[in-house]
Amino acid sequence: MVSQSKKQLLDMASVLGSSNTSTNSAGKRTDIERDEAFPAEDVSIVVEPLTNRHVNALEKHRNGLGKVARDRRDKPVAKGTKLPPGRQAPSPVFDIDGLSRPSRGTHNRIDEEPAQAEARSEKMRGAVRTLLECLGEDPGREGLLATPSRYANALLFLTNGYQVNVNDIVNNALFYEGHNEMVIVKGIDIYSLCEHHLLPFTGKMHIGYIPSEIVIGLSKLSRIAEMFSRRLQIQERLTRQVAHAIMEILNPQGVAVVMESCHMCMVMRGVEKTSTTTITSCVLGCFEKNNKARNEFMSLVGVNKT
Ligand SMILES: [Zn+2]
Repeated sequence: MVSQSKKQLLDMASVLGSSNTSTNSAGKRTDIERDEAFPAEDVSIVVEPLTNRHVNALEKHRNGLGKVARDRRDKPVAKGTKLPPGRQAPSPVFDIDGLSRPSRGTHNRIDEEPAQAEARSEKMRGAVRTLLECLGEDPGREGLLATPSRYANALLFLTNGYQVNVNDIVNNALFYEGHNEMVIVKGIDIYSLCEHHLLPFTGKMHIGYIPSEIVIGLSKLSRIAEMFSRRLQIQERLTRQVAHAIMEILNPQGVAVVMESCHMCMVMRGVEKTSTTTITSCVLGCFEKNNKARNEFMSLVGVNKT
């Protein structure tokens, strides 16, 4: 009898296209041995057949990331992965209510009454006043009197993507066109906030997809990008969320997203490399498998000039 948690692990493994069990001479499955070292919650981030060697390597890699803090919840969950009961999905890359990382606070923000919204603002203003004091400023001086309120409003605006639902954006703007050639929207302006420093990063996103007969209104692509960028982000996740959202909505042959941007946390502080550009990409479906499609996309958006 396979225990419940092991069974789930095995289910996940089969979803991931790998087998973690070995077959003994009698043809019976032997239990996997690394339940302790590799709890079920970690399975979702593994895409290869697992061996102890892989597990150790993963742990080492994770520890090696040290303080750079890549949240392991950023790893996409394989489709159909079943999580143990009572355990929340570790940040689906994309979910249909568009939140993709809903915390209790996010839902509160969507559902709140005007009085609650006012209480939230007041709390934020208080926090900004504290910040100002900690900077050695006088929050009571004339130039700063309205700053807490301005800053709170600005932050709420810059993160209003938490209050947008991808269904509302798409709003049935899907059209059957029988079109199966690459569609690219290039140079979408992105203004987002880095979740590590709460400083802006800005740049351009290029989105391409190859439809399976169905196309989406072009402006919707920019709006999806905007929705995800108006949240606390890291560029890698932003890129991936946009790609997965389009994949989910349209079920096209493939999606490719490339983003190039400049991070204020790099430019204004720390290494102060003012001309640094960070490029991230996410390719799904046929772009992943087909070099020609991928190269065509990259050269059309001007990333891969050779
Ligand atoms: Zn940063």
